[in-house]
Amino acid sequence: MKSIVVVGSVNTDMTVKIQRIPAPGETVIGGTFLMTQGGKGANQAVAAARAGGTVAFVGRVGSDIFGGQARESLRQDAVDVEHLVTDHEASTGIALIFVDDTGENSIAVASGANAEVTVADVEAARDVIATAGVLLMQLEIPLPAVSAAARIAAAHGVPVILNPAPAQSLDADLLRHVAMLTPNETEAERLTGMRVHDPDTAAAAARALRGCGIQRVFVTMGAKGVYVADETGGTMVPAFVVEAVDATAAGDVFNGALAVALTEGMGLLDAVRFANAAAALSVTRRGAQPSAPRRPDIDDFIRRSG
Ligand code: ADP
Repeated sequence: MKSIVVVGSVNTDMTVKIQRIPAPGETVIGGTFLMTQGGKGANQAVAAARAGGTVAFVGRVGSDIFGGQARESLRQDAVDVEHLVTDHEASTGIALIFVDDTGENSIAVASGANAEVTVADVEAARDVIATAGVLLMQLEIPLPAVSAAARIAAAHGVPVILNPAPAQSLDADLLRHVAMLTPNETEAERLTGMRVHDPDTAAAAARALRGCGIQRVFVTMGAKGVYVADETGGTMVPAFVVEAVDATAAGDVFNGALAVALTEGMGLLDAVRFANAAAALSVTRRGAQPSAPRRPDIDDFIRRSG
């Protein structure tokens, strides 16, 4: 099967689980600490590899201990790190995360080496991108690198999945090369200027985004599920009902699993259901990458859910 190439960010996540997220100027005591591998790019790469994909990663880490650990961790999940560059000036990206008792989160990111990913880094991975089954990206690295990768992929007929997170506006030139877009409600609002909170408003946003030349739009809506639209129309695919413990990286797991399902040739709705199942399993577990489920668990969960 063709590979999934992820061009994106690598972070070390430092998570404090605490009764409630501190307000500005406030100190809340009594939490527990967990350090895990994260970054939307690395999370999605690992989620795709665990869901059964063959994955190659393009990005940057610092030459500090966190960079070494991130590289080793990706390798242990069988992600190809040949195009993961070590930056000798910038630090590895760091995310400081609070998670409260309801599973809600709040995150501060020091981008470090992620902000140094260049067009040249992407050009160096040209052959890998050009022969991929799908190119999967997010917005935690500089836009010129994202655009360069999208252009290479599109020029070789490789479909591009863009998860437009964190939320920001995008220019038409980038969107032109994107086949599939996976915004959550906030991101869909930022891209369209429309409020998105239910299937009808998601449908309107999806229509606007499809008008920019994007073939398939997946608006992820947390516990409500996903509104998916393509040239045949749009529909809501409900989420699986689970007990949420930590929503960190639910979207990342959704994207990684979606890339695998589509690379395997699943139909659109089956692919969304597969990705929903993987994401639902991830919200029942703590952390970013540790929460990404493995293929047998996803298949099992779908079977048990009928
Ligand atoms: P993000 O993490 O990017 O904000 P969402 O919150 O929309 O993205 O979550 C992505 C996907 O994860 C959802 O479409 C859904 O499939 C799944 N998901 C998220 N939260 C839950 C939940 N509480 N229960 C079940 N599935 C969930």
